[in-house]
Amino acid sequence: MTNPQELLDQIAAQTKSCTKCGLQHSRKNAVPGSGPASAEIMFIGEGPGFHENEQGLPFVGAAGRFLDELLESAGIHREQVFITNVVKCRPPGNRDPQIEELEACDGYLERQIQAINPKVIVTLGRFSMHKFLPNAKISEAHGQAVRVKGRLVVPFYHPAAALHQPSLRSTVQADFDRLPEWIEKAGDVPEYIEQPADDQDDQKPEQLSLF
Ligand code: URA
Ligand code: SF4
Repeated sequence: MTNPQELLDQIAAQTKSCTKCGLQHSRKNAVPGSGPASAEIMFIGEGPGFHENEQGLPFVGAAGRFLDELLESAGIHREQVFITNVVKCRPPGNRDPQIEELEACDGYLERQIQAINPKVIVTLGRFSMHKFLPNAKISEAHGQAVRVKGRLVVPFYHPAAALHQPSLRSTVQADFDRLPEWIEKAGDVPEYIEQPADDQDDQKPEQLSLF
């Protein structure tokens, strides 16, 4: 039997030679994610930026330093959590990941979630939120835990959003400060029932482009 750490190592190796989407051409290093297979919390960001692409590690630039600060002040060490992104290769010029890229890369993320089986998944920003909550608005959904297909998911603003918009800083900090509470309550959060979309168009890939 392959243990969870071996599964993560296999997934990481596969991303490094992956040719499933066009982002293969703009990557210097794939950024599969980092952290222990035993992590109780998994953070899912948007995609590698310049520094991540250089180093092959997630959240090592300005947003990463801020993420470290937010974690520390919530009493959580980075080494305890698993951090990854919805796409493992850097979109050119840090543009938004496209639907085909998100779909192509999703299998890696799904396998990471299965291998780690985290108590809490924290989505950072709207792209990872929309994987679990396709209709949600981040201004309404942030900081509130929901259970999606049995898993506890808590959408947070992306730390970079707070760096660009200082008025968000205290909101982002308050959301992080409740993380220990969500780990404790992981078993008690009710299942989220997706509201039917207002129009007839219930194709998830289409909804991904609405913000
Ligand atoms: N922003 C992200 O969404 N992910 C990273 O890894 C770094 C910055
Ligand atoms: Fe493969 Fe994901 Fe990189 Fe696309 S972004 S090439 S799917 S690892």
